[in-house]
Amino acid sequence: MNEDLPISTRNSLLLNRSRAAVWHPCTQMKQHETLPLIPVARAQGCWLYDFDGARYLDAISSWWVNLFGHGNAHINAALRDQLETLEHAMLAGFTHEPVVELSERLSKLTGGALGHCFYGSDGASAVEIALKMSFHYWRNSGQERKCDFVSLAGSYHGETLGALSVTDVALFKDTYAPLLRGSQQVQSPDARLAEPGESAHDYALRAARSLEAHLQRHHATTAALIVEPLVQGASGMAMYDAAYLAEARALCDRYEVHLIADEIMTGFGRTGTFFAYEQAAVSSPVSPDFLCLSKGITGGYLPLSVVMTRDEIYAAFYDDNVTRGFLHSHSYTGNALACRAALATMEIFDSDDVIATNRRTSAKITAACDGIARHPRVRNFRHRGMIWAFEVDTRDAAFARHFHQLALAKELLLRPISNTVYFMPPYVINDEEIDLLTRGARELLDA
Ligand SMILES: *Cc1c(COP(=O)(O)O)cnc(C)c1O
Repeated sequence: MNEDLPISTRNSLLLNRSRAAVWHPCTQMKQHETLPLIPVARAQGCWLYDFDGARYLDAISSWWVNLFGHGNAHINAALRDQLETLEHAMLAGFTHEPVVELSERLSKLTGGALGHCFYGSDGASAVEIALKMSFHYWRNSGQERKCDFVSLAGSYHGETLGALSVTDVALFKDTYAPLLRGSQQVQSPDARLAEPGESAHDYALRAARSLEAHLQRHHATTAALIVEPLVQGASGMAMYDAAYLAEARALCDRYEVHLIADEIMTGFGRTGTFFAYEQAAVSSPVSPDFLCLSKGITGGYLPLSVVMTRDEIYAAFYDDNVTRGFLHSHSYTGNALACRAALATMEIFDSDDVIATNRRTSAKITAACDGIARHPRVRNFRHRGMIWAFEVDTRDAAFARHFHQLALAKELLLRPISNTVYFMPPYVINDEEIDLLTRGARELLDA
Protein backbone atom coordinates (compact mmCIF):
# COMPACT_ATOMS: atom_id res chain seq x y z
CA MET A 1 0.00 0.00 0.00
CA ASN A 2 1.31 3.46 -0.90
CA GLU A 3 4.54 1.79 -2.03
CA ASP A 4 5.20 4.44 -4.67
CA LEU A 5 4.95 7.40 -2.30
CA PRO A 6 8.04 9.04 -0.83
CA ILE A 7 8.95 7.37 2.43
CA SER A 8 8.29 10.24 4.80
CA THR A 9 4.85 10.65 3.24
CA ARG A 10 4.16 7.00 4.08
CA ASN A 11 5.13 7.76 7.68
CA SER A 12 2.83 10.71 8.01
CA LEU A 13 -0.07 9.15 6.10
CA LEU A 14 -0.01 6.21 8.47
CA LEU A 15 0.01 8.54 11.47
CA ASN A 16 -3.02 10.41 10.27
CA ARG A 17 -4.95 7.26 9.46
CA SER A 18 -4.03 5.82 12.83
CA ARG A 19 -5.21 8.92 14.68
CA ALA A 20 -8.49 8.80 12.80
CA ALA A 21 -9.25 5.09 13.07
CA VAL A 22 -7.31 3.65 16.01
CA TRP A 23 -8.09 4.53 19.60
CA HIS A 24 -4.67 4.05 21.20
CA PRO A 25 -4.26 2.53 24.68
CA CYS A 26 -3.29 4.44 27.81
CA THR A 27 -3.43 7.68 25.82
CA GLN A 28 -5.23 11.01 25.88
CA MET A 29 -5.72 11.06 22.10
CA LYS A 30 -5.74 14.85 21.95
CA GLN A 31 -2.06 14.86 22.90
CA HIS A 32 -1.39 13.37 19.48
CA GLU A 33 -2.24 16.74 17.96
CA THR A 34 1.26 17.75 18.97
CA LEU A 35 2.95 14.49 19.93
CA PRO A 36 3.44 12.42 16.78
CA LEU A 37 2.71 8.70 16.79
CA ILE A 38 5.64 6.61 15.68
CA PRO A 39 4.98 4.31 12.76
CA VAL A 40 6.76 0.99 13.09
CA ALA A 41 7.52 -0.39 9.66
CA ARG A 42 9.55 -3.33 10.90
CA ALA A 43 11.56 -4.50 13.89
CA GLN A 44 14.66 -6.57 14.43
CA GLY A 45 16.52 -7.45 17.61
CA CYS A 46 16.21 -4.55 20.07
CA TRP A 47 15.30 -2.08 17.32
CA LEU A 48 12.07 -0.63 15.92
CA TYR A 49 12.33 1.05 12.50
CA ASP A 50 9.99 3.49 10.78
CA PHE A 51 9.59 3.89 6.99
CA ASP A 52 12.24 6.60 6.92
CA GLY A 53 14.95 4.44 8.40
CA ALA A 54 14.73 6.19 11.76
CA ARG A 55 15.24 3.64 14.52
CA TYR A 56 14.47 3.34 18.22
CA LEU A 57 16.09 1.09 20.79
CA ASP A 58 13.22 -0.78 22.45
CA ALA A 59 14.56 -0.20 25.98
CA ILE A 60 11.22 -1.15 27.58
CA SER A 61 10.71 -4.36 25.59
CA SER A 62 7.51 -3.06 23.97
CA TRP A 63 5.64 -2.77 27.28
CA TRP A 64 7.67 -5.48 29.01
CA VAL A 65 6.78 -8.35 26.70
CA ASN A 66 9.81 -8.90 24.49
CA LEU A 67 12.58 -11.14 25.80
CA PHE A 68 14.75 -12.29 22.91
CA GLY A 69 14.41 -9.49 20.42
CA HIS A 70 12.03 -8.75 17.59
CA GLY A 71 12.14 -11.08 14.60
CA ASN A 72 13.75 -13.82 16.67
CA ALA A 73 14.84 -16.58 14.29
CA HIS A 74 14.03 -19.48 16.63
CA ILE A 75 10.52 -18.25 17.50
CA ASN A 76 9.85 -17.36 13.86
CA ALA A 77 10.78 -20.87 12.74
CA ALA A 78 8.62 -22.50 15.41
CA LEU A 79 5.62 -20.37 14.40
CA ARG A 80 6.10 -21.14 10.70
CA ASP A 81 6.16 -24.83 11.53
CA GLN A 82 3.07 -24.54 13.73
CA LEU A 83 1.20 -22.69 10.96
CA GLU A 84 1.63 -25.73 8.74
CA THR A 85 -0.22 -27.99 11.17
CA LEU A 86 -2.65 -26.17 13.48
CA GLU A 87 -3.29 -22.48 14.09
CA HIS A 88 -6.09 -22.81 16.61
CA ALA A 89 -8.76 -25.14 17.85
CA MET A 90 -11.19 -24.66 20.70
CA LEU A 91 -9.92 -26.01 24.00
CA ALA A 92 -13.24 -27.11 25.52
CA GLY A 93 -13.55 -30.79 24.68
CA PHE A 94 -10.41 -30.67 22.49
CA THR A 95 -6.70 -30.55 23.13
CA HIS A 96 -3.45 -30.32 21.18
CA GLU A 97 0.25 -30.94 21.52
CA PRO A 98 1.48 -27.36 22.11
CA VAL A 99 -0.91 -26.68 25.00
CA VAL A 100 -0.13 -30.02 26.68
CA GLU A 101 3.60 -29.66 26.30
CA LEU A 102 3.57 -26.06 27.51
CA SER A 103 1.53 -26.99 30.58
CA GLU A 104 3.90 -29.83 31.43
CA ARG A 105 6.96 -27.65 31.02
CA LEU A 106 5.55 -24.81 33.09
CA SER A 107 4.55 -27.22 35.82
CA LYS A 108 8.05 -28.64 35.89
CA LEU A 109 9.45 -25.13 36.39
CA THR A 110 7.40 -24.87 39.60
CA GLY A 111 8.91 -28.15 40.79
CA GLY A 112 5.55 -29.77 40.13
CA ALA A 113 3.93 -27.67 42.88
CA LEU A 114 1.56 -25.97 40.41
CA GLY A 115 0.47 -28.75 38.14
CA HIS A 116 -2.74 -27.35 36.63
CA CYS A 117 -2.70 -24.66 33.94
CA PHE A 118 -5.73 -22.57 32.95
CA TYR A 119 -5.23 -20.33 29.92
CA GLY A 120 -6.36 -16.80 29.06
CA SER A 121 -5.32 -14.26 26.46
CA ASP A 122 -3.82 -11.40 28.45
CA GLY A 123 -2.61 -10.44 31.88
CA ALA A 124 -5.83 -8.89 33.13
CA SER A 125 -7.83 -12.00 32.24
CA ALA A 126 -5.30 -14.14 34.14
CA VAL A 127 -5.90 -11.99 37.22
CA GLU A 128 -9.67 -12.31 36.78
CA ILE A 129 -9.29 -16.08 36.55
CA ALA A 130 -7.16 -16.28 39.71
CA LEU A 131 -9.61 -14.11 41.69
CA LYS A 132 -12.61 -16.13 40.53
CA MET A 133 -10.88 -19.46 41.17
CA SER A 134 -9.88 -18.45 44.68
CA PHE A 135 -13.38 -17.29 45.54
CA HIS A 136 -14.92 -20.37 43.96
CA TYR A 137 -12.52 -22.70 45.79
CA TRP A 138 -13.64 -21.33 49.15
CA ARG A 139 -17.28 -21.57 48.10
CA ASN A 140 -16.80 -25.19 47.02
CA SER A 141 -15.14 -25.78 50.40
CA GLY A 142 -18.11 -24.45 52.36
CA GLN A 143 -16.43 -21.15 53.27
CA GLU A 144 -18.78 -18.81 51.46
CA ARG A 145 -17.86 -15.78 53.53
CA LYS A 146 -14.38 -15.72 52.04
CA CYS A 147 -14.97 -13.37 49.13
CA ASP A 148 -12.74 -10.32 49.76
CA PHE A 149 -9.31 -9.64 48.33
CA VAL A 150 -6.33 -7.80 49.72
CA SER A 151 -3.49 -6.28 47.69
CA LEU A 152 -0.49 -4.05 48.32
CA ALA A 153 -0.62 -0.27 48.24
CA GLY A 154 0.58 0.82 44.80
CA SER A 155 -0.20 -2.52 43.18
CA TYR A 156 -1.10 -2.97 39.52
CA HIS A 157 -2.96 -6.06 38.34
CA GLY A 158 -4.57 -4.95 35.08
CA GLU A 159 -7.55 -2.85 34.03
CA THR A 160 -10.60 -5.02 33.50
CA LEU A 161 -13.08 -4.42 36.31
CA GLY A 162 -12.06 -7.29 38.59
CA ALA A 163 -8.34 -6.71 38.10
CA LEU A 164 -8.81 -2.96 38.50
CA SER A 165 -10.58 -3.62 41.81
CA VAL A 166 -7.35 -4.98 43.30
CA THR A 167 -5.17 -2.40 41.53
CA ASP A 168 -4.11 0.67 43.50
CA VAL A 169 -3.15 3.27 40.89
CA ALA A 170 -5.42 6.30 41.23
CA LEU A 171 -4.88 7.49 37.64
CA PHE A 172 -6.34 4.27 36.24
CA LYS A 173 -8.83 3.52 38.98
CA ASP A 174 -10.54 6.60 40.38
CA THR A 175 -12.76 7.34 37.37
CA TYR A 176 -14.25 3.86 37.49
CA ALA A 177 -14.67 3.66 41.27
CA PRO A 178 -18.47 3.34 41.11
CA LEU A 179 -18.09 0.22 38.95
CA LEU A 180 -15.58 -1.52 41.18
CA ARG A 181 -15.92 -3.95 44.00
CA GLY A 182 -14.08 -2.77 47.11
CA SER A 183 -10.79 -4.39 48.05
CA GLN A 184 -8.35 -3.70 50.86
CA GLN A 185 -4.79 -2.47 50.49
CA VAL A 186 -2.05 -3.08 53.01
CA GLN A 187 1.26 -1.25 53.40
CA SER A 188 3.66 -1.82 50.50
CA PRO A 189 7.06 -3.36 51.28
CA ASP A 190 8.58 -0.84 48.78
CA ALA A 191 12.16 -0.40 50.05
CA ARG A 192 12.01 3.37 49.41
CA LEU A 193 9.67 3.62 52.41
CA ALA A 194 12.30 2.35 54.86
CA GLU A 195 13.30 4.72 57.65
CA PRO A 196 16.86 6.10 57.51
CA GLY A 197 19.13 3.33 58.76
CA GLU A 198 16.48 0.64 58.28
CA SER A 199 17.45 -2.05 55.77
CA ALA A 200 15.13 -3.13 52.94
CA HIS A 201 14.94 -6.49 54.69
CA ASP A 202 13.89 -5.01 58.03
CA TYR A 203 11.40 -2.73 56.36
CA ALA A 204 9.90 -5.70 54.46
CA LEU A 205 9.40 -7.49 57.77
CA ARG A 206 7.80 -4.37 59.25
CA ALA A 207 5.43 -4.08 56.25
CA ALA A 208 4.49 -7.73 56.76
CA ARG A 209 3.17 -6.79 60.23
CA SER A 210 0.60 -4.60 58.51
CA LEU A 211 -0.53 -7.60 56.48
CA GLU A 212 -0.62 -9.67 59.64
CA ALA A 213 -2.81 -7.10 61.42
CA HIS A 214 -5.15 -7.07 58.44
CA LEU A 215 -5.44 -10.85 58.21
CA GLN A 216 -5.88 -11.19 61.95
CA ARG A 217 -9.05 -9.10 61.72
CA HIS A 218 -10.37 -10.08 58.30
CA HIS A 219 -9.20 -13.62 57.49
CA ALA A 220 -12.68 -15.07 57.83
CA THR A 221 -13.89 -12.95 54.92
CA THR A 222 -10.65 -12.86 52.89
CA ALA A 223 -10.22 -15.20 49.93
CA ALA A 224 -6.77 -14.17 48.76
CA LEU A 225 -3.83 -11.82 48.92
CA ILE A 226 -2.56 -10.81 45.47
CA VAL A 227 0.98 -9.48 45.07
CA GLU A 228 3.46 -8.56 42.38
CA PRO A 229 6.52 -10.45 43.66
CA LEU A 230 9.65 -8.30 44.23
CA VAL A 231 8.78 -5.47 41.81
CA GLN A 232 5.57 -3.44 41.71
CA GLY A 233 5.80 -2.46 38.07
CA ALA A 234 3.19 -0.08 36.72
CA SER A 235 3.03 2.13 39.80
CA GLY A 236 6.70 2.99 39.31
CA MET A 237 9.04 -0.01 39.66
CA ALA A 238 8.90 -0.22 43.45
CA MET A 239 11.33 -2.94 44.50
CA TYR A 240 11.23 -4.86 47.74
CA ASP A 241 13.03 -7.50 49.72
CA ALA A 242 12.11 -11.14 49.14
CA ALA A 243 11.65 -11.63 52.90
CA TYR A 244 8.21 -10.05 52.46
CA LEU A 245 7.11 -12.91 50.22
CA ALA A 246 8.26 -15.53 52.70
CA GLU A 247 6.36 -13.71 55.46
CA ALA A 248 3.28 -13.31 53.26
CA ARG A 249 3.36 -17.04 52.48
CA ALA A 250 3.56 -17.93 56.17
CA LEU A 251 0.76 -15.51 57.07
CA CYS A 252 -1.49 -16.77 54.27
CA ASP A 253 -0.95 -20.32 55.52
CA ARG A 254 -1.66 -19.35 59.12
CA TYR A 255 -4.84 -17.45 58.25
CA GLU A 256 -6.11 -19.76 55.48
CA VAL A 257 -5.92 -17.16 52.75
CA HIS A 258 -4.71 -17.88 49.21
CA LEU A 259 -1.55 -16.26 47.92
CA ILE A 260 -1.83 -15.14 44.30
CA ALA A 261 1.53 -14.30 42.71
CA ASP A 262 0.95 -11.94 39.79
CA GLU A 263 4.16 -12.61 37.86
CA ILE A 264 2.76 -11.20 34.64
CA MET A 265 5.70 -8.79 34.51
CA THR A 266 8.24 -10.47 36.82
CA GLY A 267 8.04 -14.00 35.39
CA PHE A 268 10.33 -15.49 32.74
CA GLY A 269 13.60 -14.35 34.25
CA ARG A 270 12.95 -10.63 34.52
CA THR A 271 14.04 -10.34 38.16
CA GLY A 272 17.03 -12.71 37.95
CA THR A 273 15.31 -16.03 38.68
CA PHE A 274 12.84 -17.72 36.37
CA PHE A 275 9.99 -16.74 38.70
CA ALA A 276 10.49 -13.88 41.14
CA TYR A 277 8.84 -15.79 44.00
CA GLU A 278 11.73 -18.30 43.94
CA GLN A 279 13.85 -15.66 45.69
CA ALA A 280 11.67 -15.96 48.80
CA ALA A 281 13.04 -19.43 49.51
CA VAL A 282 15.21 -19.53 52.63
CA SER A 283 15.53 -23.13 53.78
CA SER A 284 12.77 -24.63 51.65
CA PRO A 285 11.03 -23.54 48.43
CA VAL A 286 8.10 -21.15 48.72
CA SER A 287 5.27 -21.36 46.26
CA PRO A 288 2.06 -19.40 45.71
CA ASP A 289 -1.39 -20.97 45.46
CA PHE A 290 -1.99 -19.28 42.12
CA LEU A 291 0.64 -18.06 39.68
CA CYS A 292 -0.38 -15.63 36.91
CA LEU A 293 1.88 -15.39 33.86
CA SER A 294 1.66 -13.44 30.62
CA LYS A 295 3.77 -10.69 28.93
CA GLY A 296 7.12 -12.50 28.35
CA ILE A 297 5.49 -15.92 28.04
CA THR A 298 5.49 -15.85 24.22
CA GLY A 299 8.70 -13.85 23.98
CA GLY A 300 6.55 -10.85 23.06
CA TYR A 301 4.98 -12.46 19.99
CA LEU A 302 1.37 -13.35 20.72
CA PRO A 303 -1.18 -12.71 23.46
CA LEU A 304 -1.31 -15.54 25.98
CA SER A 305 -1.71 -15.85 29.71
CA VAL A 306 -1.94 -18.69 32.16
CA VAL A 307 -2.99 -19.24 35.75
CA MET A 308 -1.30 -22.17 37.45
CA THR A 309 -2.52 -23.79 40.62
CA ARG A 310 -1.97 -26.82 42.82
CA ASP A 311 -3.64 -30.21 43.17
CA GLU A 312 -5.75 -29.47 46.24
CA ILE A 313 -7.34 -26.43 44.63
CA TYR A 314 -7.99 -28.27 41.38
CA ALA A 315 -9.51 -31.16 43.33
CA ALA A 316 -12.08 -28.87 44.98
CA PHE A 317 -13.62 -28.25 41.53
CA TYR A 318 -13.51 -31.89 40.37
CA ASP A 319 -17.01 -33.22 40.87
CA ASP A 320 -20.11 -34.77 39.30
CA ASN A 321 -21.82 -31.43 39.83
CA VAL A 322 -21.26 -29.17 36.80
CA THR A 323 -21.48 -25.89 38.69
CA ARG A 324 -18.71 -26.90 41.07
CA GLY A 325 -16.45 -26.82 38.00
CA PHE A 326 -14.68 -23.70 36.78
CA LEU A 327 -16.88 -22.72 33.84
CA HIS A 328 -14.87 -19.64 32.87
CA SER A 329 -13.68 -19.41 29.25
CA HIS A 330 -12.15 -17.18 26.59
CA SER A 331 -12.54 -17.88 22.86
CA TYR A 332 -8.80 -18.07 22.20
CA THR A 333 -7.97 -20.10 25.32
CA GLY A 334 -4.85 -22.19 24.69
CA ASN A 335 -4.32 -20.85 21.17
CA ALA A 336 -1.93 -23.25 19.46
CA LEU A 337 0.25 -20.60 17.80
CA ALA A 338 0.66 -18.71 21.07
CA CYS A 339 1.48 -21.90 22.96
CA ARG A 340 4.05 -22.81 20.32
CA ALA A 341 5.66 -19.36 20.62
CA ALA A 342 5.79 -19.93 24.39
CA LEU A 343 7.45 -23.31 23.89
CA ALA A 344 10.02 -21.77 21.55
CA THR A 345 10.67 -19.08 24.17
CA MET A 346 11.27 -21.72 26.82
CA GLU A 347 13.59 -23.62 24.49
CA ILE A 348 15.74 -20.50 24.28
CA PHE A 349 15.93 -20.37 28.09
CA ASP A 350 17.42 -23.87 28.01
CA SER A 351 19.66 -23.64 24.96
CA ASP A 352 21.15 -20.25 25.87
CA ASP A 353 21.27 -20.76 29.65
CA VAL A 354 19.42 -17.46 29.86
CA ILE A 355 19.27 -17.03 33.64
CA ALA A 356 23.08 -17.28 33.88
CA THR A 357 23.66 -15.17 30.76
CA ASN A 358 21.34 -12.48 32.13
CA ARG A 359 23.41 -12.30 35.31
CA ARG A 360 26.37 -11.20 33.21
CA THR A 361 24.31 -8.80 31.09
CA SER A 362 22.74 -7.36 34.22
CA ALA A 363 26.13 -6.73 35.85
CA LYS A 364 27.33 -4.98 32.68
CA ILE A 365 24.27 -2.72 32.55
CA THR A 366 24.53 -1.88 36.24
CA ALA A 367 28.18 -0.93 35.76
CA ALA A 368 27.28 1.19 32.72
CA CYS A 369 24.63 2.96 34.86
CA ASP A 370 27.25 4.23 37.29
CA GLY A 371 27.10 7.78 35.95
CA ILE A 372 23.31 7.72 36.16
CA ALA A 373 23.22 6.31 39.69
CA ARG A 374 25.50 9.11 40.89
CA HIS A 375 23.89 11.87 38.87
CA PRO A 376 22.85 14.84 41.04
CA ARG A 377 19.27 14.77 39.66
CA VAL A 378 18.82 11.05 40.32
CA ARG A 379 17.18 9.59 43.44
CA ASN A 380 16.70 5.96 44.55
CA PHE A 381 18.67 4.28 41.78
CA ARG A 382 17.73 0.62 42.09
CA HIS A 383 17.92 -2.56 40.12
CA ARG A 384 16.70 -6.14 40.14
CA GLY A 385 17.69 -8.68 37.51
CA MET A 386 16.93 -7.07 34.15
CA ILE A 387 15.08 -4.00 35.52
CA TRP A 388 16.66 -0.65 36.44
CA ALA A 389 14.79 2.36 37.81
CA PHE A 390 15.36 5.77 39.37
CA GLU A 391 13.47 8.95 40.16
CA VAL A 392 14.45 12.23 38.55
CA ASP A 393 14.33 15.48 40.51
CA THR A 394 12.12 17.71 38.41
CA ARG A 395 9.48 20.39 38.68
CA ASP A 396 8.11 19.54 35.22
CA ALA A 397 4.59 18.16 35.70
CA ALA A 398 4.78 16.64 32.20
CA PHE A 399 8.25 15.17 32.79
CA ALA A 400 7.33 11.69 31.52
CA ARG A 401 6.07 12.99 28.19
CA HIS A 402 8.97 15.39 27.70
CA PHE A 403 11.60 12.81 28.62
CA HIS A 404 9.99 10.30 26.24
CA GLN A 405 10.12 12.84 23.41
CA LEU A 406 13.74 13.84 24.05
CA ALA A 407 14.76 10.19 24.34
CA LEU A 408 13.31 9.46 20.89
CA ALA A 409 15.65 12.07 19.45
CA LYS A 410 18.47 9.95 20.89
CA GLU A 411 17.04 6.78 19.29
CA LEU A 412 15.74 5.53 22.63
CA LEU A 413 12.26 4.26 23.40
CA LEU A 414 11.78 5.10 27.09
CA ARG A 415 8.47 5.74 28.76
CA PRO A 416 8.86 7.05 32.31
CA ILE A 417 6.09 6.50 34.86
CA SER A 418 5.61 10.03 36.22
CA ASN A 419 9.17 10.96 37.29
CA THR A 420 10.42 7.37 37.45
CA VAL A 421 12.66 6.42 34.55
CA TYR A 422 13.23 2.72 34.05
CA PHE A 423 15.09 0.43 31.69
CA MET A 424 13.65 -3.00 30.92
CA PRO A 425 15.43 -4.05 27.74
CA PRO A 426 15.14 -7.33 25.86
CA TYR A 427 17.62 -9.86 27.26
CA VAL A 428 19.55 -9.87 23.99
CA ILE A 429 20.72 -6.25 24.33
CA ASN A 430 24.39 -6.07 23.28
CA ASP A 431 27.34 -3.99 24.52
CA GLU A 432 26.94 -1.30 21.89
CA GLU A 433 23.23 -0.97 22.67
CA ILE A 434 23.91 -0.84 26.42
CA ASP A 435 26.32 2.00 25.79
CA LEU A 436 23.84 3.87 23.60
CA LEU A 437 21.11 3.46 26.22
CA THR A 438 23.08 4.46 29.30
CA ARG A 439 25.02 7.25 27.61
CA GLY A 440 21.85 8.64 26.02
CA ALA A 441 19.94 8.57 29.30
CA ARG A 442 22.82 10.30 31.12
CA GLU A 443 22.91 13.05 28.49
CA LEU A 444 19.18 13.54 28.88
CA LEU A 445 19.64 13.99 32.63
CA ASP A 446 22.34 16.58 31.97
CA ALA A 447 20.14 18.50 29.55
C1 LIG B 1 0.79 -5.79 32.59
C2 LIG B 1 0.35 -6.35 33.87
C3 LIG B 1 -0.95 -6.84 34.05
C4 LIG B 1 -2.00 -6.77 32.97
O1 LIG B 1 -1.65 -7.46 31.83
P1 LIG B 1 -2.38 -7.08 30.44
O2 LIG B 1 -1.88 -8.08 29.48
O3 LIG B 1 -1.91 -5.68 30.13
O4 LIG B 1 -3.83 -7.13 30.69
C5 LIG B 1 -1.28 -7.39 35.27
N1 LIG B 1 -0.38 -7.45 36.27
C6 LIG B 1 0.88 -7.00 36.13
C7 LIG B 1 1.83 -7.13 37.27
C8 LIG B 1 1.28 -6.41 34.95
O5 LIG B 1 2.51 -5.91 34.82
